Amino acid sequence: MKTTFAENQAPTLILIVDDEQFIRMQLRLALEREGYQIAEAENGTKALNLFQQLHPDIILLDAIMPDMDGFECCNRLQAMNFGQCTPVLMITGLDDQESVDRAFEVGAVDFVTKPIHWPVLRQRVKFLIEQSQLQKQLEFAHQELQRLVTIDQLTQVYNRRRFDEYLAQEWQRMAREQVPISLILGDIDYFKLYNDTYGHQLGDRCLQQVAQCINNSIKRPADLVARYGGEEFSVILPNTDMEGAMILAEIICSSVRKMDIPHSSSPVSPVVTISAGVATLIPKPNSDYQEVILLADKALYQAKMAGRDRIQFMS
Ligand code: GH3
Ligand code: MG
Ligand code: MG
Repeated sequence: MKTTFAENQAPTLILIVDDEQFIRMQLRLALEREGYQIAEAENGTKALNLFQQLHPDIILLDAIMPDMDGFECCNRLQAMNFGQCTPVLMITGLDDQESVDRAFEVGAVDFVTKPIHWPVLRQRVKFLIEQSQLQKQLEFAHQELQRLVTIDQLTQVYNRRRFDEYLAQEWQRMAREQVPISLILGDIDYFKLYNDTYGHQLGDRCLQQVAQCINNSIKRPADLVARYGGEEFSVILPNTDMEGAMILAEIICSSVRKMDIPHSSSPVSPVVTISAGVATLIPKPNSDYQEVILLADKALYQAKMAGRDRIQFMS
């Protein structure tokens, strides 16, 4: 799930897990005074359910409970999807060394003992929530950064950097498995004339439409569309033979044509078209992924030379 800053602005939700109703009530009253929202569970099973339903910001967990105790409950919480970043504060009457060690072993981030020292609990809860929110923001910023360095700003498909990285990785994988990898290089026909006729802004718009059109044509999660250069796009097709790649190239070219973007100065068509070069190889061990790019580039050149608005393949 994608974390957003907006989520952090929702009121902070604390899940209190304790088998004693009186303790739950005391905790609820004390923490509600601090402005937190509270959810309660009287046993471990209910705690796990509420955790999945509500995604609380922090969990205050009693160690000693019948059936599933706090240690086991904490263990299971860690194993669940959202468990990694939700802090668990263990609360218990136990203060022996072994219990403290166990609490941290099962993933609790902090430990307080009963009888509860309220000013201390208040500060710990506040600190843990702030820390976990900071961590979420950091994760969000990291994801956003990852997106920014791999996506082409104008067209929102992957950029050349991601293209190279992914092709290198998949080339090696296909070499190990000895299965084919295909590459489609598509290039808009007479795009310089398009810019000259309609202006650079409409040119940019056209690039965006073509990119989205190609992106909508791919079906497999492993396929990757990137902007290879100015008006050139590439599709990496791992584990795909020539026949499969040609079918997809046909779909892409005809979908671009079907968008009916006027191109009055094109010598080959009244609407925007692309030419495509398709290459398929089974990579040899220790070979260079540039091979498949060179081959697709050659095929593209031939498609251009043969009159544009067409597909050429090489293998
Ligand atoms: P061909 O059919 O042989 O591919 O001819 P072409 O005119 O498409 O090819 P050429 O390589 O001569 O020109 C590519 C044009 O793409 C020139 C350049 O101004 C334009 N272009 C490259 N990047 C962008 C961009 O980000 N936005 C716009 N609007 N145009 C771009
Ligand atoms: Mg208890
Ligand atoms: Mg072109």
